[in-house]
Amino acid sequence: MTENKSRVVVLGTGGTIAGWAPDPKQAHQYRAGEVAVGDLVKALAPQGLHIETEDVARIDSKNMNWTVWQQLVARLTYWLAHDDVQGVVVTHGTDTLEETAILLHSLLKGDKTVVITGAMRAANAPDCDGPVNLQDAIRLAATPGRAGVVAVFAGHVHAPASLTKLDCQSLRAFASSDPVPIEPAIENLTALRERFSGQPDHPVDMDVSAFLQVTAWPRVELVHNHAAQDGWLVRTLIASPDAPEAWVVAGTGNGTLSQGLEDALIQAQEKGAWVWRTSRCPWGSVQAQRGDRLSQVCALNPCKARVVVTLALLALALKQQGLARPLP
Ligand code: ASP
Repeated sequence: MTENKSRVVVLGTGGTIAGWAPDPKQAHQYRAGEVAVGDLVKALAPQGLHIETEDVARIDSKNMNWTVWQQLVARLTYWLAHDDVQGVVVTHGTDTLEETAILLHSLLKGDKTVVITGAMRAANAPDCDGPVNLQDAIRLAATPGRAGVVAVFAGHVHAPASLTKLDCQSLRAFASSDPVPIEPAIENLTALRERFSGQPDHPVDMDVSAFLQVTAWPRVELVHNHAAQDGWLVRTLIASPDAPEAWVVAGTGNGTLSQGLEDALIQAQEKGAWVWRTSRCPWGSVQAQRGDRLSQVCALNPCKARVVVTLALLALALKQQGLARPLP
């Protein structure tokens, strides 16, 4: 790597990239988040770069939650505000990596490079993929220019909006609609940014400072359409005292719902809940049809839509308290 006066910050949150197996021969039996991010970076011995490291959390990302997200956003905001910080890398478990990516993409207003990465094999597994992914992520974050929030995995750069973990075993666990190989991305960050700007955007009009003060999170539930879906879960929950404030539904095909589920969600909507339709298909995005009784659709996958809908509900609540501007 060439000499670079700018700093790159690597924030750790845990995951398999920081996982450790008591017996490397049984590397699938590991604990996520065991290794400090400083040690992961030290093992790479990056040349010619000023790198700061900090562990924000050391969790398995199946347990990612709003509190850790607030801590992560707080540290990102702190470091990104430094003029000499070129970019930030976030190491993360792969299980909810795409949810964190869309949260950061929606919330962070600046366009400095934030690269989120992870690994499918523990740090002491033979042929572990973490070092290469981390190295690629650091190189991208150190590149002059601004890429905004992106993910780097298995030699490719992905945009948060279409990023999805599709494989629970392969080293190429992630896919997106328009992945860019790492070398051309580093060579031309402007082209990368322009290419990704065509993807659906989901900005949330909420100041980071307001997000960091939230202590109560709206309940947004996710429900799937499937064969023999009769809407029982929705009808049961909307009758409870702490009924969800919003529903995201992973519909079949173009966001379609069984009659029973649609009727139940219409009841939820009539009681004041938001209902957003997405598709359980990994590719394509739901197109609203004239006459839809549930008219709100979201192009994101269901789990990412749930993050954005929660933020949108919060933004509205903060606006009603006079703390933030409304959604467009
Ligand atoms: N369970 C791990 C996590 O998400 C999986 C991984 O990182 O690949 O933290």
